[in-house]
Amino acid sequence: MQELKKRESALIPGLFLTGTDTDVGKTTVAVAVVRLLVAAGLRVGVYKPVASGVPAGTSTSDAQRLWEAAGRPLSLEAVCPQVFSLPLSPPRSARAAGGRVDERLLRDGLTAWQRASDLLVVEGAGGLFSPLGERVLNADLARDFGLPLVLVDSARLGAIGRTLATVCAARASGLSVAAVVLSQVLPDSDGEVAELSSGGIARANLADIAQHLGPTPVTLLPHGAAAFSPPLPWRQLADVRSS
Ligand SMILES: [Mg+2]
Repeated sequence: MQELKKRESALIPGLFLTGTDTDVGKTTVAVAVVRLLVAAGLRVGVYKPVASGVPAGTSTSDAQRLWEAAGRPLSLEAVCPQVFSLPLSPPRSARAAGGRVDERLLRDGLTAWQRASDLLVVEGAGGLFSPLGERVLNADLARDFGLPLVLVDSARLGAIGRTLATVCAARASGLSVAAVVLSQVLPDSDGEVAELSSGGIARANLADIAQHLGPTPVTLLPHGAAAFSPPLPWRQLADVRSS
């Protein structure tokens, strides 16, 4: 892990969305948070420092979804300045394309948003300790930005262990966890025993994680829903500064 030169602190409040793993529903959560903040009248800056697994011409990328949710501020390139096509970690995907992830740009890409926004929503790539560049992990960038984490998990069986382990590791790395979100990635199917359905498992996970995490807020985004249950005060959570 690289110790990046820490900014004095982000100029404006924000949230850094990260996951317990890749494909846990981060973008769905980020889009829902952005829409709620935009509906509250805020100018929301949306930033995805790097993306991989995005073939040329893809119109449903994370960056596109974030940009649309925020009302198309600045430009799509400002949302995600570094895009690589192969579905590998960003540094390996960049190397496969004959280049390297620009680690300075990972950080400097946020500057335009700080000028143009009231609040930032940053979505990392992969999980909290997944690499963004040759020497930079998501956790390094979150620390450098001084933003509190919103930790997302897929709400599937195993969510308690994945979530608590990542929260412990985040705190041990000096990061603040503003909230944990279970993003129910699987739809409920008919005819299942309620407790064994994806919704039943998600709701049970929510209750158990909330019990273990104490004051840290925990919520669920049910499959296909636009609203969190319970609702959380996202604007206020963005004021929890990372140490
Ligand atoms: Mg995503």
